[in-house]
Amino acid sequence: MKPTIALVGRPNVGKSTLFNRLTKTRDALVADQPGLTRDRHYGHGKVGGKPYFVVDTGGFEPVVDEGIMVEMARQTLQAVDEADAVIFIVDGRVGVTPQDKLIAQHLRQVGRPVWVAVNKAEGMNQAVVTADFYELGLETPVAVSASHGEGVRELLHEVLSRF
Ligand code: GDP
Ligand code: MG
Repeated sequence: MKPTIALVGRPNVGKSTLFNRLTKTRDALVADQPGLTRDRHYGHGKVGGKPYFVVDTGGFEPVVDEGIMVEMARQTLQAVDEADAVIFIVDGRVGVTPQDKLIAQHLRQVGRPVWVAVNKAEGMNQAVVTADFYELGLETPVAVSASHGEGVRELLHEVLSRF
């Protein structure tokens, strides 16, 4: 089986950076400007001989009410719905935000396996950077750095071992 992995999380946590690393491309636009990726974005990759599809999303904004943000939330929900697994990306330098909690609440209900990737963790102590995120009530959070690559391969192995 070639599983589809959806990358979700609030804007600016590093979804597109992770997408580019997982697909070995620079296809996804990375910027400090939140919400740059407005569409779902598909790619594929392979690790340890196991292939996978990956879907970047524009950012999950559960508490929004109009225009582009509603469209982004809708796209993300659809991506989760179509995926076999979800990597929920959070920002280890910011800590848990109210938006993260809302996303977690949703992900607990979707019946897909979810991994919590605590991003931007380069140079940080793993136990310290992940500690905050246990309160999301999902799987054990793992520290990664999408831009430096730390922890990404391990996370992917873990995800793919379920399929
Ligand atoms: P998205 O909105 O979730 O797709 O986030 P982006 O991938 O566009 O990244 C948002 C910002 O975070 C950019 O400035 C990235 O360079 C930065 N970023 C992404 N991953 C990391 C990381 O692992 N470490 C650090 N320090 N910055 C990162
Ligand atoms: Mg993006």
